[in-house]
Parts: sequence; C-alpha cells; structure tokens
Amino acid sequence: MSIEAVSSLVLATRNPHKLNEIARLLEPVGISVEPLPAGIELPPETGETFEDNALPKARTAAAATGRPAIADDSGIEAAALGGVPGVRSARYAGPDASDEQNLAKLMREAPAGSPLRYVCALAYVDPRSGTERVFFGYCRGSLASSRRGSGGFGYDPAFLPDQDGDNRTMAELTDREKDAISHRGRALRELVSWLQR
Ligand code: IMP
Repeated sequence: MSIEAVSSLVLATRNPHKLNEIARLLEPVGISVEPLPAGIELPPETGETFEDNALPKARTAAAATGRPAIADDSGIEAAALGGVPGVRSARYAGPDASDEQNLAKLMREAPAGSPLRYVCALAYVDPRSGTERVFFGYCRGSLASSRRGSGGFGYDPAFLPDQDGDNRTMAELTDREKDAISHRGRALRELVSWLQR
C-alpha cells in the first residue's frame, strides 16, 4: 500500500491530548485524523501488554467505521518499581484517578532521579485489506524531584527526558520538542515510514 491510499485515519481514543498530539504529528505528511464517532464503545483495557490493549481498540474503530483506524496504548514504566505502573498508568492511583493523582503517587513511590521510560504501542488496522500492524516507540528519562511546566499531559511535569531536555521536564518542552523525542512521535514516524514504503 502507498501513502496515497491513506489520507485519513480514524483515531480510537477518547483522550483529547492524544488526539491533539497524533493529529499534529500526522498533519505534515498529509494524513488527517478523524475522531472516533460518538456512540462507538471502545473495549476495556484489560490486556497485560500495551499491544494487547492497542489492537482491540483499533479493530473496534475500523470495524465500526469501515475505515483504516489507529489506536495508541501508552504509559510510563519506573525501573525502581519493576516497570510499574506500565499498562495501568492511566489508573495507577485508582480506577477514576486524575493525571494529578497518578503523578503524585509515582512521586511518592519512586525516588527522584530514578530511571523512567515512556512506551507507546500504536496499532493500525485497515478493514479493507485486513492488514494489522503494531508499531512501538520509547522515550527514556528520569523522575524529577518536583513538578515543572504546563505543556503535555499526564506524567510530563515530572519526566526529565534523557535526550535534548537541558534539564527541562517534558511539560517544559515546546510541542515540537516533545514530538521529536516522545514515544508517541517515534511510533508514529514508524507507522508513516511503513505507509510510505
Ligand atoms: P492509556 O493509553 O489510555 O491507557 O493511557 C495512558 C496513560 O499513560 C495516560 O493517562 C498518561 O497518564 C500516561 N501517558 C501516556 N503518554 C503520555 C505522555 O506523552 N505524557 C504523559 N503521560 C503519558
């Protein structure tokens, strides 16, 4: 398949931050991102891996719309906690926890300066051909001792990226700087280079 065959993708998410980031990453290559139509229920995130959670979401959106769809499942792994919270990052402090509560828990449980890793599994499903692919992206960093910055979302105010951060947190980077090094940016660039192969 060439990139001409895919000029828009349905994004299987209800997270406005992800929609924003993914739309701005795909816009420069001429792919528009369509939000998931109302009324489509996404499957619960019960998988033990990021891939296990991303694929069913993309399949659901592709089957419901008849159009190529993508879904991201992402999270943060703390080395000091054996990889926790991982796939449970969105509900680390409880089933309905806010980003703020999840971040506060991570800062209580893991020591400042300890290694972190963001992970993104990005699933692509094309219902016309039956094609299914999963692309991965990673971003390494460490835990800041206090929150800084108002950009990004989730754990960004306490995530100090190893690469190009100048000791700024992910929430202190510009959108363009975050996209260049983020797990989501890397996974999306893998998808785009595969579509353009
Ligand atoms: P899920 O993919 O919907 O399960 O949610 C992933 C969770 O991981 C989010 O709620 C955030 O807490 C966290 N997360 C994923 N990507 C990022 C990011 O780019 N910055 C900060 N937190 C993130």
